[in-house]
Amino acid sequence: MQQTDVLILGAGVAGLTTAIKLAKARPDLHITVLTKTNENESNTAWAQGGVAAVWDKKQDSYQKHIEDTLDAGDGLCNEKIVDIVVHEGPERVKEIITWGARFEKKKAEDQYDLGREGGHSENRILHYKDITGWEIQRTLLEEMDRYPNVEFHEHFFAIDLLTQHHMGYSITRVTPGIECYGAYVLDKRTGGIETILAKTTVLATGGAGQVYKNTTNPSIATGDGIAMAYRAKALVENMEFVQFHPTSLYNTAGENPSFLISEAVRGFGGILRTREGEEFMKKYDTRGSLAPRDIVARAIDREMKQRGEDCMYLDCTHLDKEGFLNHFPNIYEKCMSIGIDPMKDYIPVTPACHYMCGGVRTDEMGRTSVLRLYACGECTCTGLHGANRLASNSLLEGLVFAHRIVEDILPKIDHLSIQTGIPEWDARGTTDPEEMVLITQSMKELKDAMSYYVGIVRSNVRLKRANDRLYLLYKEIESLYNTTSISPQLCELRNLVTIAYLITRSANMRTESRGLHFTTDYPNKKSFVDYSIL
Ligand SMILES: Cc1cc2nc3c(=O)[nH]c(=O)nc-3n(C[C@H](O)[C@H](O)[C@H](O)COP(=O)(O)OP(=O)(O)OC[C@H]3O[C@@H](n4cnc5c(N)ncnc54)[C@H](O)[C@@H]3O)c2cc1C
Repeated sequence: MQQTDVLILGAGVAGLTTAIKLAKARPDLHITVLTKTNENESNTAWAQGGVAAVWDKKQDSYQKHIEDTLDAGDGLCNEKIVDIVVHEGPERVKEIITWGARFEKKKAEDQYDLGREGGHSENRILHYKDITGWEIQRTLLEEMDRYPNVEFHEHFFAIDLLTQHHMGYSITRVTPGIECYGAYVLDKRTGGIETILAKTTVLATGGAGQVYKNTTNPSIATGDGIAMAYRAKALVENMEFVQFHPTSLYNTAGENPSFLISEAVRGFGGILRTREGEEFMKKYDTRGSLAPRDIVARAIDREMKQRGEDCMYLDCTHLDKEGFLNHFPNIYEKCMSIGIDPMKDYIPVTPACHYMCGGVRTDEMGRTSVLRLYACGECTCTGLHGANRLASNSLLEGLVFAHRIVEDILPKIDHLSIQTGIPEWDARGTTDPEEMVLITQSMKELKDAMSYYVGIVRSNVRLKRANDRLYLLYKEIESLYNTTSISPQLCELRNLVTIAYLITRSANMRTESRGLHFTTDYPNKKSFVDYSIL
């Protein structure tokens, strides 16, 4: 068994920032950070648009950023959390600048070149070309390297969180005093399962976009942290609010993940059009192509269904080529690689699952409902996003809550001890899987059910269908899990079926349309606000 002071599961913006801040504040603490693949594979590394923060106080204000966030969240944001994130955000962004993050500046001026995205009333997005996430991931990895008290493991896959359940106690979601003592972890290189005991554990495992067929999220986004926390009986909230990005590149080759055409392209002047050139967004919202994501995604979905077409189009042909190339070199190159010249051709776009607004319920210090377990980043539901996330608020959320979690851990850590009495992983009675097809085919069925029945537009009949299919899949997968030796693919499938169930069940509970959740059976908003807590 391994022992550590703080175990951090995940190495994106949330996990790395938490590790750096802890390591810096307490060089005597031993901090273990795990990532299930390599150090560069995270949703963070894929972020394009940037980080939203109030920067230019002459033009912008905290109040405006707060109002934009609340407006997008459609009545479900926690106003206290929004206030915290918006006010503390700029300080946290300044910190990563001191660690070496480069954000674009205006030519010949020492001011940041602030971008604008859908739903923002001002320019406030700090960015690095169109690969801001890559720049943030690079900065954080380099900064973390400076601290010898951080032990970093690649290819370590967390399977389950350890609680009193593993010591033989029966616990339920309402049992008081549930505690987390670390995690069982699969070392993918040796195939061995380690028990890592920790005084405190931080979940920073990111989102779950892979539960849908079409997603901008990389393959790591299988909702492991949310599923593990749910199994450990932590509260999970607002899972029905799945953000579909309106504009992923429609590519007939069927790429996974789908390539994102950042909202910043519309902020820069790109206009959504039909094949014939009609600017159709004006029919749906006065803000046209810059309306919030949920409105744009539903409008594109509706136009596609009505017209029987597989995509709509983003027109950038009127934009300045030099400016476009400076801002979006990566997008330009990608389009050109599949024969689309953004300066001459419309870019074909289609919605793709992009972001989970729901997740493990946390409070203003990042604490979950399980003691000694924190959660940070996309795996959480902090209350910032409500029923819909405002673009570029998620990297910010990760930075702000990493700081707060560290502030909460520091005064407590010396009073905690490593739990004894946790048994080693028991693999008796399991055998090696004979046919991988049992896993791959179940994965396809799961994604199909979610994409067709629990996508952008939902209904009671579709949700019922999804529920029936998911129940069958759940039973088959649990049986496979209990009899077969552990593999990352099997664990991910098991986690994704849990995520699918949580989304579907939350969608069923919400008998109204609000934010990202739209159902044809209840097309209107209720006058009171409720939360879907599972
Ligand atoms: C294409 C794209 C563009 C985006 N653009 C923006 C943007 O412009 N602005 C913005 O604010 N947000 C953007 N987002 C969203 C944002 O990138 C994410 O919400 C954010 O980076 C999540 O950070 P995180 O640290 O929570 O998770 P991630 O960065 O996803 O990191 C998760 C980590 O957990 C690890 N992990 C997962 N499961 C396990 C396990 N079982 N065991 C061990 N390790 C595990 C992974 O290996 C990874 O290291 C974008 C997302 C995508 C996909």
